Amino acid sequence: MSAIGFIGLGNMGSHMAANLVKAGHEVKGFDVVTSNVDAFVSAGGVAASSISEASSSVDMVVTMLPAGKHVREVYTSAEGILASANPGTLLIDSSTIDVTSARAVAEAAQKSGMQMIDAPVSGGVGGAEAGTLTFMVGGGDETFEQARPVLEAMGKNIFHAGGAGNGQAAKICNNMILGISMIGVCEAFVLAEQLGLDHQKLFDISSTASGQCWSLTTYCPVPGPIPTTPANNGYKPGFSVGMMLKDLKLAQDAAQASNAATPLGAQAAAVYALFEAAGHADTDFSGIIKLLRGNA
Ligand code: NAD
Repeated sequence: MSAIGFIGLGNMGSHMAANLVKAGHEVKGFDVVTSNVDAFVSAGGVAASSISEASSSVDMVVTMLPAGKHVREVYTSAEGILASANPGTLLIDSSTIDVTSARAVAEAAQKSGMQMIDAPVSGGVGGAEAGTLTFMVGGGDETFEQARPVLEAMGKNIFHAGGAGNGQAAKICNNMILGISMIGVCEAFVLAEQLGLDHQKLFDISSTASGQCWSLTTYCPVPGPIPTTPANNGYKPGFSVGMMLKDLKLAQDAAQASNAATPLGAQAAAVYALFEAAGHADTDFSGIIKLLRGNA
């Protein structure tokens, strides 16, 4: 069993850190919000009072932070992880951040004598709590194998996507597909409504025809065909518009930086930005159908 520092005990990190404790690891947790640290202690963890305390004298450090700027600061500031952890400490960042920051921090870690992987997740808060997250990992082969048992204590599917930053690349490419496909499915239902075609009929036909996709058959954006989707629950997330927009913007930043043509990704980001501006940051992303109906 390992000694682990965990930094960022929010909606996701609190559950992930608790699952590491359940797996028998000795986990020191830190968050700038003290009540999050208190809750982690109630779940069997040990409180750390700073980034430095959480990352010194441990075998590995896991971070679960909001965005790239937080990750850069937590790793590279004067009191940060790279200044505090022993050389050889394994570093795992599971935050969803921009590819450029992920690669820059991994390079800084290497210069400090530490190996780092980017390991963003999908599966949401439910998956974090159940320990069934999917991890998309970027980093060296050996580092990936070293991290695997710890990732398995928090997740079910662990994919090695290639070198540093490729975990983040996989995550934003996947979510760009999702954002675009959800808008496509919603547009089809709105057109069907205008043409007098029943939701269930379109679902039955398209789910066995060439329009089939996850946004239709697993996460159907209209109530009825799949009873468990947010559409049946007032579009309560699920996966919020704010989070989808964050990932679509990361995809657009990466596309511009790498000269990739992603015109539909750009449109999807613009459509979700409109919906967010209309007060829907906390609506499930499948609620975008309301905007397309003109009643956002
Ligand atoms: P969150 O805001 O609930 O948690 C982030 C935590 O980091 C907060 O508790 C915050 O206080 C803490 N933090 C910020 N700066 C800090 C610092 N300098 N030192 C220590 N702690 C600090 O966010 P979340 O929902 O847990 O998401 C975390 C990451 O996971 C994000 O990058 C998000 O995009 C990604 N993600 C979230 C979900 C989801 O469903 N919530 C799903 C997949 C991926």
